[in-house]
Order: sequence, then C-alpha cells, then structure tokens
Amino acid sequence: MHILLMGPPGAGKGTQAAKLVEEFKVPHISTGDMFRAAVKNQTELGKKAKACMDQGKLVPDDVTIGIVKERLSQPDCKKGFILDGFPRTVEQAKALDKIIAELGLKLTGALNINVPAQDLIERAVGRRICKKCGETYHIKFKKSLKEGICDVCGGQLYQRADDSEETMKNRLAVYDEQTKPLIAYYKNAGLYKEIDGRQSMDKVYGDVVAVLRG
Ligand code: ADP
Ligand code: AMP
Repeated sequence: MHILLMGPPGAGKGTQAAKLVEEFKVPHISTGDMFRAAVKNQTELGKKAKACMDQGKLVPDDVTIGIVKERLSQPDCKKGFILDGFPRTVEQAKALDKIIAELGLKLTGALNINVPAQDLIERAVGRRICKKCGETYHIKFKKSLKEGICDVCGGQLYQRADDSEETMKNRLAVYDEQTKPLIAYYKNAGLYKEIDGRQSMDKVYGDVVAVLRG
C-alpha cells in the first residue's frame, strides 16, 4: 500500500493517517511533521523551513524533495507508506514519480479528502496537539477528557503557531494556487480517488478503507 493522502490544510489527513497506521502497519510520512521536528530541534533544515511555515507559505521544492527522497529510501517504505502533505506542487509530484520509479515501487492511489474552505478554518483554528505524543484533538470535534491534557499520555496540548485564522487564509490561498493542480495530475495518472471529508472522522475512515480495498 503506497498511497498519498491529499487535501487542503485541516482536511483530516493526519487524523486518517493515524488510523491507517494502526490497521495497516505502514509508515506515516508527513512532511509537515518532519519540518516541525526540525524546527523544534533547531537544525539547519528547521531554520530553512521556519520562516515559510510561519507565513503559511510552502518550503522550497528542492528542500522538501530532498527530505522525502531520503525518507522513502529507508527499507521500511518497501512494504508501503502513507504520504501526508506531500506532494504539494506539480514539481514535487514529478520528483515523486521519479523517486518511486528509482526505488522500483508503484503508487497505489492518491486519495483527496475534500472539505469546504469555511470548515477548514474552523478545523485548523480549533486543532490542538499533544506536545509529548503528537495525538491530535479538536476543541469542538474531538475534545480531550480533561481540557488541555492528552487522554493518551497526559501530555500538554498546544496550538500550532500556523493554525491562526490569518495564517490559515494564506495557507488556503497557497493550496488553491499551488496544490489544487495536483487533482488533475493524479486524475491523469488514473490514481485519483475523492473522499467526502465533511463526514464524521469514523465515516471518512470507512470510505478511505473502502477505496483502498477497491
Ligand atoms: P490535516 O492533517 O489535513 O491538516 P488534521 O487531521 O490535523 O488535518 O485535522 C484538522 C483538525 O480537524 C483536527 O483538530 C482534527 O481533530 C479535526 N478533524 C479531523 N477530521 C475531522 C472530521 N471528519 N470532522 C471534524 N473534525 C475533524
Ligand atoms: P502541514 O502540517 O501539512 O499542514 O504543513 C505545515 C507547513 O509545513 C506548511 O504550511 C508548509 O509551510 C510546510 N510543508 C509541509 N509539507 C510541505 C510540502 N510538501 N511542500 C512545501 N512545504 C510543506
């Protein structure tokens, strides 16, 4: 199972990926998570990524393609992967085709989780993440039992700096301009599948699994 989880910011890609990992035991590769880890660890990559992320812009293609190439070359990706948040530009999609061909792999599908823009802002602004284990919550749609505390590990929940309403507007504009063209790209490749992301998390998951099982 070598799949792409596509969709605008806040659509529910990470939420669905976490469920898929549990069931299918393949690595979840999120470029956003990789960049956030690099920023936290103050690495060279983190320094390059931070300014772009804070403004809701994309990190340059050469940087992003480099980290994905390195990650996909690891042996655990042979049996499968869930790529979340990559590719985000046509340039990245072309690079991915090349990387995958070089590794002798094949994409199984590009699943696009579709959610209208007005809902995306509410989803992103209400998103909370555990500092310790990374579990994702929402102040309205997936509340933790104790406010601000993770149900899984007791860690503190935080709000991503780029999950403000203002930055989300930039991120959505960037999505429309640079990432939406990938829908046509993967339709052309015969890999595109659309998922209705307005449903509950469990219903979305049901549709994702139905599409994967074909
Ligand atoms: P993405 O990885 O696409 O940016 P997330 O999976 O982090 O999105 O989801 C964004 C926010 O929306 C999170 O707070 C999550 O709990 C919430 N969310 C995810 N899926 C749904 C859904 N189907 N209905 C309502 N809220 C959702
Ligand atoms: P995400 O966690 O997927 O919402 O990504 C958070 C931020 O990381 C984005 O707004 C970008 O600044 C950066 N980022 C993540 N993935 C990519 C990518 N494939 N290409 C460029 N920038 C990315």
